[in-house]
Amino acid sequence: MGHERTFETERLGRLREGVADGEALLLFDAKNIRYLTGFTGSEGALAVGKDWRVLLVDGRYVTQARNEVPGAEIFEFRNRIEGIAAVIGGHAVESLGFESSALNVEEYLRLREKLPEVPLRPLSSELQEIRAVKNGEEIQRIRQAARIAGEALAEVRSLIRPGVREQELAVELDYRMRRSGAEQVSFETIVAAAANTALPHATPGDRRIADGDCVMIDYGAVWGGYHSDETCTWFAGRVDGRQREVYGIVREAHDRAIAAIRAGVACGEIDRIARSCLAEAGLDGHFSHGTGHGVGLDVHEAPRLASGRQEILRAGMVVTVEPGVYIPGLWGIRIEDTVLVMEEGCEILTPTSKELTIV
Ligand code: ZN
Ligand code: ZN
Repeated sequence: MGHERTFETERLGRLREGVADGEALLLFDAKNIRYLTGFTGSEGALAVGKDWRVLLVDGRYVTQARNEVPGAEIFEFRNRIEGIAAVIGGHAVESLGFESSALNVEEYLRLREKLPEVPLRPLSSELQEIRAVKNGEEIQRIRQAARIAGEALAEVRSLIRPGVREQELAVELDYRMRRSGAEQVSFETIVAAAANTALPHATPGDRRIADGDCVMIDYGAVWGGYHSDETCTWFAGRVDGRQREVYGIVREAHDRAIAAIRAGVACGEIDRIARSCLAEAGLDGHFSHGTGHGVGLDVHEAPRLASGRQEILRAGMVVTVEPGVYIPGLWGIRIEDTVLVMEEGCEILTPTSKELTIV
């Protein structure tokens, strides 16, 4: 796709703005390599200089790399660190910025040993910041992922009844997302019932849903490499007074946070708005995670919508808003949407209604 390559060239250009003469950048993260080249393999390395770049892959990926990144210089390695040392050694590199978060200590030490003359410095978060703002094509992919996921959830809703196990519902949801074109699920689907909903990251198990249970479903689809992320908390058969009350408060925190999202607002401010809404009801002590996170090639990426975060929301960022209240041993309620930040306000991309729902 020709226009894709244009995006990738532009992204590489933005990254290179921070590269000095004689400096090179070394990337290992598969999502970052995909973002900058279009290569979708799960392993490799990308070396970028001021006016050159080399994609390093092992033998399994040579054909795929040639097809996906036509015209690029491709280096086939047997051993990744030795390959990198050969490429960097051939390019008069005086300083090497490397992705420290994607390299293990053993590889780092071997790289040090192979390139004793080249100072290594960990890369800053520049690439994360570039990735945080999505273009129209990326937004379309997230929109499509959210649509596929939402349609699958609508089908699974009718399967929720007393006696069905959490795990069965999770498998049904995954199957329907995949059948409708999702390449993968965004993460291991969470279907939790009753006291399991009080664990923010429950794993679906053998628990059978009973009348009156709170049922939390946190799930997403991947389409064209891009993720969606949504949480619905529903009630099986009936809802008690306390659950109805807390649902209303979490919903209010979610709605107020979404109402405040627009370009120019600090991420920490969105978190503060959600948290203070829960605090008004004395529930902030039960909200144990950040309000949201960026979504894109990774399901969790920049920016973080968490306490004190100074990053400013920009048009084109895609973030989640997911306040929750977890009462240990009883139940938890989380409501999550993925939204597109716009100059004025935001657009909710995840399609499922967040009205209180009894299934
Ligand atoms: Zn989620
Ligand atoms: Zn999330």
